[in-house]
Amino acid sequence: MPGLAVIIVGEDPASQVYVRNKERACEECGIYSEKYALPEETTQEELLELIDTLNNKSSISGILVQLPVPKHIDEKTIIDAINPNKDVDAFHPVNVGKIMVGNYDFVPCTPAGVMELIKESGIDVSGKECVIVGRSNIVGKPQAMLLLHQNGTVTICHSKTKDLKEKTKNADILVAAVGIPNFIKGDMIKEGAVVIDVGINRLENKKLCGDVEFETAEKVAGAITPVPGGVGPMTIAMLMKNTVKAAIINKSK
Ligand code: NAD
Repeated sequence: MPGLAVIIVGEDPASQVYVRNKERACEECGIYSEKYALPEETTQEELLELIDTLNNKSSISGILVQLPVPKHIDEKTIIDAINPNKDVDAFHPVNVGKIMVGNYDFVPCTPAGVMELIKESGIDVSGKECVIVGRSNIVGKPQAMLLLHQNGTVTICHSKTKDLKEKTKNADILVAAVGIPNFIKGDMIKEGAVVIDVGINRLENKKLCGDVEFETAEKVAGAITPVPGGVGPMTIAMLMKNTVKAAIINKSK
């Protein structure tokens, strides 16, 4: 029986929403879940103790620590403490390495969701120019590896990239993971390209918007994901998939 433990430290409003959505998804899928909402002042030692308990708890197959953690806690130390077989976010260096060599159990949920969208839409990645804007450990870098494993020709762009428009204009598949509202405009996109918007940005008027300017981009793109309602729900679906996978892996240990 799969069981997911979700740990949240502090009061970050966006994180609260993400955790609530994850709990709700578990309910909908019939996955057992435990939520640990810890106060902002929680020490690193206390958090490590909880992770150790959950690592050894047989009813828990997956452990997720909602990031970011408060500044006095070292994110890397926390990720390293999670049993790689229960690391449903796939952020542990063991799982990152496995993705690199192409022999993996868990894939980070957001890039996995992007790949699922591409597959379900019948889009063949092989030989395509794939451009990712953003090089974070949780989205950009693993996304690049997954597209590469499917024989895409991958370019990773970032904040120091020169002539960004020239790169994005060349993309058959463009993945935006920048964290800047409406950053990718229609004139940066090749006619007919597949545009996948990972960004989730909250505007001053409280509305959510992506990293792609949808109104101008949809006129040029062959296919495009909306925000909200595109990659976000896929991320949660992939978390459920990883939790079920973790239950199978841990059962056989
Ligand atoms: P991040 O802040 O860690 O990384 C942003 C990346 O954008 C960096 O690699 C940086 O080099 C690049 N960048 C910044 N300015 C740039 C510029 N001017 N030109 C080119 N590149 C530039 O962000 P992240 O954690 O990868 O998240 C990116 C976005 O995706 C955010 O909006 C985040 O909220 C969203 N996100 C969504 C999901 C989901 O489930 N849909 C999951 C994770 C993140």
